[in-house]
Amino acid sequence: MSLSLYSACTLCPRKCRVDRVNGKTGFCGETAHLRIGSIVAHFGEEPPISGTKGSGTVFFTGCSTGCFFCQNHQLSKKGHGDVFTDESFCAAVEALLATGVHNVNFVTPDHFWPHVSLLIDTLRRSGVRKPFIMNSSGFHDREQVADWAGKVDIFLPDFKYADSELSKLCTGRSDYCELALDAISEMVDLAGFLDVRLDGREGTASSGVLVRHLVLPGYIDNSLKVLNLLSERFGTMLPISVMSQYRPTAYCEGKGTFERALSQVEYDTVAEEVYRLGFSNVLFQPIVDEESGFTPDFNRKDPFLGNKKNLTEP
Ligand code: SF4
Repeated sequence: MSLSLYSACTLCPRKCRVDRVNGKTGFCGETAHLRIGSIVAHFGEEPPISGTKGSGTVFFTGCSTGCFFCQNHQLSKKGHGDVFTDESFCAAVEALLATGVHNVNFVTPDHFWPHVSLLIDTLRRSGVRKPFIMNSSGFHDREQVADWAGKVDIFLPDFKYADSELSKLCTGRSDYCELALDAISEMVDLAGFLDVRLDGREGTASSGVLVRHLVLPGYIDNSLKVLNLLSERFGTMLPISVMSQYRPTAYCEGKGTFERALSQVEYDTVAEEVYRLGFSNVLFQPIVDEESGFTPDFNRKDPFLGNKKNLTEP
């Protein structure tokens, strides 16, 4: 894949058409210089993704979706990250693979897809057989998903907003829901459902789709609608991860219920709907306090304190 795709960029539905090769930036805030905030073995993903040896996560700088409450705001809003060449990117991922991680997990990589695509080609040519994961926001064009599907094995899309007013408030786009449903449909058509159950008893995943939904404080109706749309479109065998890890950031000040954490009652209401609809391959995330260890701080070498805990546990 050519890096010329960064010229007149249409790598995401924003379609800014800016010339990133010549230093211009669009909504995502990034030129054609690859920037990365962290490359690390991550033990806080779902059991079939993190397994026992961690998921080899690559966190990219910038974001094309731009939710104002982003939990990785140091990367998506503050531009934290270092420039990598193709060579240094490849060397860093090879070093991570050498630690035994189960997969390579690209987190919100769509605005750097040409670099990611090149890396995958290089690693496959050198004999890497571990799964590559597209861990993304759900805000994609269907055609882009088709491009990714030839190279990645596992899709971890979010389905964040069924409510168009909420998506407009959070991202500036009211069409998130339609785009995300179409994108996830393409993923499911091309890759099927995740090939193992989410409880981890069948080992780590090698292919398929797992949909994530972050429950937002004060917007439970959005979550209920999300679950109903997913069950209607994909059926209740669809693997879903229902996340409770929302934490307010400085960007949430003055934004109503976004200023507080999710309550147990709110999360339980969403969980009840999951049961009512009959989803059969679900991961629930317990509500834990701030220092669970998986609230990231990208100023640290390892952004997740919880990773150390996992590494020291037998
Ligand atoms: S990847 Fe960035 S520059 Fe390209 S269309 Fe999307 S937001 Fe705009």
